[in-house]
Amino acid sequence: MAFYQCPSCKKVWQYPIGKCPECFLNLERKKGNIAKVIAISRVEIPSIFHPKVPYFVLVLEDENKNRWIKKSKKEYKIGETIEKEKLTNEEGVIVLKVKYDYFEVIEKIFEILGKIELKEDSKILILPTLEKPSHPYFRDNTSPEFLEATLKFLFEKKIRPENIKVCAQSFDEIEIGFKAQRSGLLEICQKYKVLPFDLSKGNFIKKGDLEISEEVFKSDLILNLPILKMGRASATENLFFFLKKENYLAQKYLYSEKEIFEKLKEKLPKILTIGEARHIQDEKGFTNYLFLVLASFEPKNLDFVFFKITQREKLPEILEGLEIEKIESIGDIDF
Ligand SMILES: [Zn+2]
Repeated sequence: MAFYQCPSCKKVWQYPIGKCPECFLNLERKKGNIAKVIAISRVEIPSIFHPKVPYFVLVLEDENKNRWIKKSKKEYKIGETIEKEKLTNEEGVIVLKVKYDYFEVIEKIFEILGKIELKEDSKILILPTLEKPSHPYFRDNTSPEFLEATLKFLFEKKIRPENIKVCAQSFDEIEIGFKAQRSGLLEICQKYKVLPFDLSKGNFIKKGDLEISEEVFKSDLILNLPILKMGRASATENLFFFLKKENYLAQKYLYSEKEIFEKLKEKLPKILTIGEARHIQDEKGFTNYLFLVLASFEPKNLDFVFFKITQREKLPEILEGLEIEKIESIGDIDF
């Protein structure tokens, strides 16, 4: 857990307020390495996000004496150090609450996943949701804040801006540049000198009867960065934008989305999806507040866990056949 300390008066905040209100100095971000249990509450009554009981609410303390609370499925004793969470299954899903900002959540996802190697010269490809030319307020597209936090995380890992591409493509009549501008995503790319890339302008490689953007095969890490929407399989659907438009439309004429995705999945390298679900749209386009981020190497599992969390009635076709019992999920919410 990160804390924010004033270098002069040494006061500590649990949220990133930027400057100390008394000294007007920038706060230093301090992250503890250990988490010792100093108090425990056992909860026996289930609630919406916490259907499984009993669970435990722990008060933890790090080596700098900073304290915070955390939910745990495992019972601990006072004085014990808690273990770092780990996914045992590659296709599992991490569900985290957004407390103050996205940065901390993204950092934690990479910590939980552990073995993703990020080197200075790693080439990163980012695919946000970019469907409509609309203001971020409407949550049609991945938000500028989410993209910005992801970029800041990559920069902290010493990835160079020139090695990052934020890519998108338009499958309708509206130009992708216009969507990028209205969504606020273009401004973020410009601010951080990251290249916005129109996939339709690049080359596509034939793989079976699919034509896939060659960018996919030139990157060391691909981040699928969708904004999740209720009643949809946003993470899975977003990957269709790696296909050539004409190819995708022809495929859609012949096959179901589920069938296209299964074929596509076989041809794609490993892709990490980090789905934004802080403010999200329901089926009518109204904004809801969920304050979550989900991550997985299997976008269908991620969408399915999201479907279960949001308790929608109609399962998107692409997710048919999945069973929640077979999906490992860890983090702040469980089933
Ligand atoms: Zn101060």
